[in-house]
Amino acid sequence: MGDRDVVPTPAIGEVPVCACCTEPAVMYQPVSRHHLCREHLISDVEERVAETIRRTGQIRTGDRIAVALSGGKDSTALLLILSRLLGDRHDVSLVAVTVDEGIAGYRTETIRAAQDLTRELGVEHHVISFSALAGADLDTLLVGRETQACTVCGILRRKALMDAAGTAGATKIATGHNLDDEAQSVFMNVLRGDLPRLVRDSGAGSGDCFLPRIKPLADISEKEIASYLFVQGRFAALPECPYTRYALRAEVRSMLSSLEYRHPGTMRHLIESKEKITRYCAGAQAHGTLNRCRECGDPCSGEICQVCRLRRSLGQ
Ligand code: SF4
Ligand code: ZN
Repeated sequence: MGDRDVVPTPAIGEVPVCACCTEPAVMYQPVSRHHLCREHLISDVEERVAETIRRTGQIRTGDRIAVALSGGKDSTALLLILSRLLGDRHDVSLVAVTVDEGIAGYRTETIRAAQDLTRELGVEHHVISFSALAGADLDTLLVGRETQACTVCGILRRKALMDAAGTAGATKIATGHNLDDEAQSVFMNVLRGDLPRLVRDSGAGSGDCFLPRIKPLADISEKEIASYLFVQGRFAALPECPYTRYALRAEVRSMLSSLEYRHPGTMRHLIESKEKITRYCAGAQAHGTLNRCRECGDPCSGEICQVCRLRRSLGQ
């Protein structure tokens, strides 16, 4: 947003005023050091998502984008923004895909929120369940192995999304990963010493074997997304997954949030470090060679894919 560069952030008494107009500010961006009013916050977020899509060439003519819609705030904002940005285009289409993991006390409300949103926006909506995919819901699969919740959930959710997006005729999958998520993933891969995954875990997709994944919100912080929804009256307090307490991500999230608060820009710097490492490792070694799983035929980097390995460990 160019005009923010020339308009200082004035204040009337103690009330900060928007950096782009004279309206009262509703949010402060610590990195840019700008206050923004409701309208300019909304346009700033939408313009930056549009810029990410343009810069990375994430959406092209003929694309059918499957939006991974959990019903939580990130995916809700993603579907809203994409339907606004792409609403007038006839050369691309949107479809929403929701995975029902089968988590008691958590999923019912978010699925209902996803259904309401797709109905309001007139977007086709598909729901796929772990029960249909793996023969049991997540709660049942995890009995006695609750600490592995996010690993099991992540593997099956990836597979469910791929299957549902494929069935819906999608050419790409868009996920609601935001700046905080990306920074957390970088840090978690470093903590695990998993350099191949650090480099491979990119928004650029994985050649023509997988449906490419795109992350249009990767430049928007969690706080900006929450504020974007809040000022439009779309911020709903939804329940949190009960397995979050077992997740390394929860600890990393809290640590990075406090670092970002004291040192604005920390998360962006982490992501930039990953991009530099990715460029440094560029080429075949970085992305690994894709094979076909010996058991199911899906693309994978080893001999047996993660889903089949999980099925074996679950005794299926
Ligand atoms: Fe799945 Fe873990 Fe997220 Fe819960 S917190 S939905 S178990 S990945
Ligand atoms: Zn303004």
